[in-house]
Amino acid sequence: MTKHHQILIIGGGNAGLSAASQLLHKDRHLDIAIIEPSEKHYYQPAWTLVGAGEFEINDTERLEADYIPKGTTWIKDAVAAFEPEQNSVTCLSGDKYTYDILLTVPGIQIDWDKVKGLKETLGKNKVTSNYSFDIAPYTWELIRNFKGGVAVFTNPSTPIKCGGAPHKIMYLACDYWRKKAYSTNARCITFPAAA
Ligand SMILES: Cc1cc2nc3c(=O)[nH]c(=O)nc-3n(C[C@H](O)[C@H](O)[C@H](O)COP(=O)(O)OP(=O)(O)OC[C@H]3O[C@@H](n4cnc5c(N)ncnc54)[C@H](O)[C@@H]3O)c2cc1C
Repeated sequence: MTKHHQILIIGGGNAGLSAASQLLHKDRHLDIAIIEPSEKHYYQPAWTLVGAGEFEINDTERLEADYIPKGTTWIKDAVAAFEPEQNSVTCLSGDKYTYDILLTVPGIQIDWDKVKGLKETLGKNKVTSNYSFDIAPYTWELIRNFKGGVAVFTNPSTPIKCGGAPHKIMYLACDYWRKKAYSTNARCITFPAAA
């Protein structure tokens, strides 16, 4: 099955949804389709606040259907291959879609395995990350229960979602500890270490 859309957007995350809304705002007659496999939409910026104990993790999970702009077509599938010569993409289901204009915004995939041993220890052993729906609440558990000592915050030198997020949780944690009058030596190191 092949279907054609004037504008095809791959990814119904923050970028895909806001781009579709902006385009429809300019011209509500545009034929826009969004290819997005997930039933859920995650408001990731709030994960920093979850880690700081200021936001509930379950409030960051929304129904994708509630945010798909009216007037667009939601294709519940994932793109598996691009055929740019034919202006087409093929989805996991095998369905093909052609387009006049293609917008690819599938987000950044986090590759935990690139750091040896990280996946095995994340979410336990006092190792945490706000970059995961499942683990962000553990950050708050650690901050809340920290009674002083050294806290190390890492700041990757690779492209990451929200360059400020690693800093923000450090400031929020230090502010909490300052208010609680714990003495800490929180510092930010780059990882991998700069050459
Ligand atoms: C802890 C944290 C804190 C942050 N804080 C801030 C902040 O304070 N301010 C700020 O501006 N930003 C912040 N960000 C960044 C912000 O969340 C991202 O920049 C934003 O979500 C990127 O939007 P996106 O649509 O590109 O990707 P995403 O929102 O990740 O969406 C990508 C979508 O593409 C879909 N997709 C993936 N593969 C396919 C495929 N093959 N076919 C079809 N669909 C696919 C996914 O299912 C997903 O829905 C933060 C991020 C994190 C993790």
